[in-house]
Amino acid sequence: MKSLRVHIVIIMAALAVLVGAVSLATQSSRGQSQHPKSEPAVKPTVHISDRNTTEKSAVSAFVDAAAKNATLENELSWTFGGKQQRGWYLYDLLVGRTLNTRNQADSNDFAAALATWQQNKRLNPDGMLNEESFMAMVSEWQNNRLKNRAPAEPGQLITAPSSDFYDPERTAELRQVERSTYAAYKQMIAAAIADPTLKLAHTESGELASTEKYFKIVSAFRSREYQDQLRRQSPNASSAGLAVNSPHFTGRALDVYVGGDPVDTKDSNRAIQVKTPVYQWLVLNAERFGFRPYFYEPWHWEYVK
Ligand SMILES: [Zn+2]
Repeated sequence: MKSLRVHIVIIMAALAVLVGAVSLATQSSRGQSQHPKSEPAVKPTVHISDRNTTEKSAVSAFVDAAAKNATLENELSWTFGGKQQRGWYLYDLLVGRTLNTRNQADSNDFAAALATWQQNKRLNPDGMLNEESFMAMVSEWQNNRLKNRAPAEPGQLITAPSSDFYDPERTAELRQVERSTYAAYKQMIAAAIADPTLKLAHTESGELASTEKYFKIVSAFRSREYQDQLRRQSPNASSAGLAVNSPHFTGRALDVYVGGDPVDTKDSNRAIQVKTPVYQWLVLNAERFGFRPYFYEPWHWEYVK
């Protein structure tokens, strides 16, 4: 009897161990089986959410880019002409024209238009106007400028009447313009006068009135001698206007009055100039008459035909 009891105890113990082992095995196998069971259910969810994430990230990339552009517009640090520059807000109009968009620089559409441009330029199409992309845009603008910088021959120059000039006291020597440039300028002025939104004061014969300052020529042809003289007078001038090899030697570069201090490169002055209807009109229309901008100087336009 004693040994039977012992046997029963041993069997019970063995059973208990077995039950325990089975229940453990069941638990762990349940734990494992959760994966294979739910995987088919989870996997498509993962795939769907992957697709959603991709679509969302395409949209949110431009949301992020737009937010970044809002900051870069005012704060991007870049260098031009050996000078530290801050932001690209002064060039909003030129950027918009380059991208063929009128959307605000902090909009998704602007970022999308920029991404397309970046793609064409083989840049990272992230829709952000960062230093790399902005410098590429500056290069494009600079490449569009007057290629032939050969100084004008005397026979190519005409002397424009003093009524065309911002300073009517300017001497005849300083009123010289390359012939075809002058003809294109006059055509452009006629179109500007005909645009009622600009409200330019003009004469009955369709000339700018003597009281009108906008669009008047501040400076045109400058001889090398005159440029040297200017540079001697202001040896510290960093202005590209006094460059050693100036496009003004060709007689095809015109500085025209677009507001503010006529030819002052200070950011505060250029901020005034780029907001004037006259400058905005030039950005949109000057190309039709053969004039292209020098991005850094809102007043400086070159006849490239
Ligand atoms: Zn100039």
